[in-house]
Amino acid sequence: SKHTMEKSVLRIEKMVVLYSALRSERRTQLMMNNKYKILFVEDDSNIRTVITTLLETEGYQVIWAGTCKFAQGLFTSHQPDVVILDLGLPDMDGMRFLEFVRRDSLTPIIVLSARSNDRDKVRALDAGANDYVTKPFSTEELLARIRMILRNYQHRADSGKLPGGKFQVQDMVIDYDARQVFIAGKEIKLSQTEYNIVALLSEHCGKMMTYSAIIKGVWGYPDEGSTKKLQVNMANIRKKFGVKPGEARYITNELGVGYRMNGDNADIQDS
Ligand code: CA
Repeated sequence: SKHTMEKSVLRIEKMVVLYSALRSERRTQLMMNNKYKILFVEDDSNIRTVITTLLETEGYQVIWAGTCKFAQGLFTSHQPDVVILDLGLPDMDGMRFLEFVRRDSLTPIIVLSARSNDRDKVRALDAGANDYVTKPFSTEELLARIRMILRNYQHRADSGKLPGGKFQVQDMVIDYDARQVFIAGKEIKLSQTEYNIVALLSEHCGKMMTYSAIIKGVWGYPDEGSTKKLQVNMANIRKKFGVKPGEARYITNELGVGYRMNGDNADIQDS
């Protein structure tokens, strides 16, 4: 029985060694996971080199695909934290990849497009893109968008939400239960519709929402006057918030596309 005991002590020792090895491996994994993984889908090799270098310098891990088909494989096997997606790809329209991702994933997608056409932006946003950057773009702008998306996505569950059904960005507080909005502690009197718009944008804080997405969320149905109605309401909201024309505090306006409520420290200006 002494022999059996020795054997079991040995076994336990072996388990402890194995366990601590596993733990340190897990720790390394966790540390590596702190490095956000970006899937960059782009066929232009110059842009690819510049942006990949930039992102790696910023501490991101970059995996790259030059076609839609390759991107689909990488997305499934690597499960990136963010996707940066060029729409003009050689094998398929980048929109197809966007739709592929959105079938069962909420992974944030920033569309990178040479198309300055508003309709393409709206199409991409309505298909589930979180944001877009139009080529040519500044690297600072791209990095700012990535930071904002990661911040909003990582903390979406409690993004800006305070205990007791409240929400805060910058010095604006929304009390969802009381349907009240405060700026710097002072209540801003909004109409029901204005409040609904602000509350909806806050629920999607950081995401560019298209006119039609906001209209659907606030009125439930679109009609020919909807966009105008939304713009009038938004102008009133901005006035009541004390925001000057062209200023992007609280809410960014992208003409012809939609609106976005800015997260904290948002460094993106109205275009
Ligand atoms: Ca391209």
